[in-house]
Amino acid sequence: MTQSLVAPAAGRVRVLFSADQIREKVRELGLAIVRDYAGLNPVLVGVLKGACLFHADLARAMPTEVEMDFLSVSSYGAGTTSSGTVNLLGDLRGDIAGRHVLLCEAVVDSGRSVSMLRDLLRPRGPASLKVAALLDKRPCREIEVPLDYVGWTVGAEFVVGYGLDAAERYRNLPYVGVIEEA
Ligand code: IMP
Ligand code: MG
Repeated sequence: MTQSLVAPAAGRVRVLFSADQIREKVRELGLAIVRDYAGLNPVLVGVLKGACLFHADLARAMPTEVEMDFLSVSSYGAGTTSSGTVNLLGDLRGDIAGRHVLLCEAVVDSGRSVSMLRDLLRPRGPASLKVAALLDKRPCREIEVPLDYVGWTVGAEFVVGYGLDAAERYRNLPYVGVIEEA
């Protein structure tokens, strides 16, 4: 059942990072974060929609007490290049004053989203505000933003899967890949 849903899209996607590679990487990130945040009960903030799977898996890779909250932003619309404006579509549910906040992003591209979210959250007085990104598209950076935990540094290619979409497709792929030209 699942196979037939995924297969048509999968045939056109070149795998960059397999589900196994992602699982291992997220496990390493989770353990590093647990070490750094021992006893701090951090708030893991998933940046939707892209980080939906990364956020959930990262939280599961942290054998400690964490809280989970969500922000929803849009920057790309249906295209594959950044629109230049980042829209906040949904805010946190919880108060982060005095809390250790870790933003979880699937991919950082221009840096605009993370920069905007830092500006949004800083005035709320978190005890700390850091960023975990599964993918760092370094060559695309337009605004310098500090990334505290990075899975992989990649090139400028547009990637899909593991939460990342192209016009809302491919988010459910269990791996990260590049759409092959037809
Ligand atoms: P930034 O604001 O330019 O750093 O872009 C960050 C957001 O754009 C991410 O949260 C993603 O939703 C989206 N994005 C950036 N690059 C890609 C990509 O290669 N594939 C899918 N979405 C991307
Ligand atoms: Mg998108």
